Amino acid sequence: MVVRRERGVSGDELRARLRAWFGLADFRPGQREAIAALLGGRDVLVVMPTGSGKSLVYQFAALALPGLTLVISPLVALMKDQVDRLSEAGIPATFINSMLPAERQLERLEAMRRGAYRLVYIAPERLRSRTFLEALSGLNISLLAVDEAHCISQWGHDFRPDYLRLHEMRTLVGEPVTVALTATATTEVQDDIIAHLHLRNPLRVVTGFQRPNLVFHVRFAPSPEEKWRALRKIVRVVSGAGIIYVGTRREAEQIAARLAVELSAPVHLYHGGLDRETRAQAQDNFLNDPHGIMVATNAFGMGVDRPDVRFVVHYTLPGSLEAYYQEAGRAGRDGKPAQCVLLYDPRDRQLHEWFIENNAPLRSALRLLHQTLAQAAQGDAAMMPIETLAQRTQLEDTPLRLGLAQLERVGALERLPAEPHLVHALVKPLSEAQLDAIQAHVQQWRAHKRAQLAKMIAYAEATDRCRQQMLLEHFGETTPVSAHPCCDYHIRRARGEVSVPRRAQQPPREDVEASIEATYVLLQRGLSVHQVAQQRGLAVSTIYAHAARLITEGRLTLRSVVSEVAEQHIRRAVAQLGDDVEKLPAIKALLPEEVDYGAIRCVIAQMQRERSA
Ligand code: ADP
Ligand code: MG
Repeated sequence: MVVRRERGVSGDELRARLRAWFGLADFRPGQREAIAALLGGRDVLVVMPTGSGKSLVYQFAALALPGLTLVISPLVALMKDQVDRLSEAGIPATFINSMLPAERQLERLEAMRRGAYRLVYIAPERLRSRTFLEALSGLNISLLAVDEAHCISQWGHDFRPDYLRLHEMRTLVGEPVTVALTATATTEVQDDIIAHLHLRNPLRVVTGFQRPNLVFHVRFAPSPEEKWRALRKIVRVVSGAGIIYVGTRREAEQIAARLAVELSAPVHLYHGGLDRETRAQAQDNFLNDPHGIMVATNAFGMGVDRPDVRFVVHYTLPGSLEAYYQEAGRAGRDGKPAQCVLLYDPRDRQLHEWFIENNAPLRSALRLLHQTLAQAAQGDAAMMPIETLAQRTQLEDTPLRLGLAQLERVGALERLPAEPHLVHALVKPLSEAQLDAIQAHVQQWRAHKRAQLAKMIAYAEATDRCRQQMLLEHFGETTPVSAHPCCDYHIRRARGEVSVPRRAQQPPREDVEASIEATYVLLQRGLSVHQVAQQRGLAVSTIYAHAARLITEGRLTLRSVVSEVAEQHIRRAVAQLGDDVEKLPAIKALLPEEVDYGAIRCVIAQMQRERSA
């Protein structure tokens, strides 16, 4: 009933309450829409970047609705801050988590039952506590707020198995209106959140991802030397601080050393192979260096808050658009113009493919991981620094985290709250059936990773689309890109470059090589010669010429461009007439109409290769 009464609340009325309750002048984009929907009884999914004010959505709704608001968040350290701030504003709120002594927990539970609070924050592991769930029954819960909701998706970077219990709890407390909030969710993760929580026709509020001061570029650089040349140009042309993300630790070290020589200046280096002190020092040095350049792997960036980064270069293709946008988005936080440049070598995908195949822990590694924790356990709980666990199991960061999540998922571990650098868990038996279940899930994980990589490659290879638009669509934000220049595509269109016919001029040598590489990528992806020609706006004969070169080099199989039947015909004709170029018209005359000159060239390339082998 309250719901019905709230439905008509006007924008002015909401603003008046915002002033009265929170002392704020106006809503930020998305907040009012989300609040109005909640007050009208509709579930909401909020996807807005960090710092944009997601908490206000449920805090406001909590005050406007009659009953209790339960807030689920895995960030135990931040709960106290939020609760303190609410208390200062005179809003009764508390948190209950297992960092508190047992009697405190009970006290707060009692107070909650008496109706002493408008908001109660809990960590997801609380959902395992029978006492807690029983205490909830019979309470009037008006709103359930699921913060960091990406933790519910197995594709989120921070999957928490406890989040899967949320749906059960939601049913138990009478399916109250629910708001799920996160700063990072692709449309796929959003769908996952909605499905897991059983949200009914939720309003999706996805906003704030546009970064109008950033300009996105992709530079095709199909060799280390071309990458280096492009990078050198960027660091010379763009002044100010910058970050260069590199795919491997070794390469990061090489690039940092080479750049330091090039610039005759210190260059900062950060990767996961450095010890904690060195990393902290590198981060500090970078933050205090006005024109500092940081060369790093993706280990760098979490929690680094430098507003005046003028460029972020990706020297290596990232594995997903989420990772790319998050890393590139560290440029220009001060709102001033900044550049985001991806250097694209199609061969970079191989590194990711290797990771996808090898990063998921093997059966033996899972057993070892489990065993190591079991041996360290006192009673049935083990507590160990992640670094120690990594040393003892010889697992890299990603397989280690995946392994722990998988063991937890099948119930062989039960994680307990702990500082981020510790593993704290109850260790339970691990069966062969559980290991089977993990292997099956790992297959799904691989398929997901491959799909992410394919989207990243599509971004890198797109020539006819706005890059910012592609990124926004990936996150489900529908507002059109407003700022120009926003990307290389629009810059090319504004300077009129696109309309220059490619074949009008003789391209320089390196462009020919680049062009062959671009053809190679598309052929490897299974496109036909005609499809590649169409997609690249080049003549079919040009693509065949590229293919012949690739066949000569042994990089492409003949079968990718010529069918078996055509090959047999051509071989026969060539055997009869010889492979002299001047004989091509005569050879062609012996063949069915549809066989192309280009196909004949490819078969000849193959035959010559066979002969010289
Ligand atoms: P998020 O959870 O999205 O990362 P928070 O909820 O922690 O962000 O909010 C970040 C900051 O923005 C807080 O200091 C908060 O007080 C402030 N804030 C939220 N909404 C508004 C608003 N409408 N006007 C001004 N400040 C706001
Ligand atoms: Mg938040």
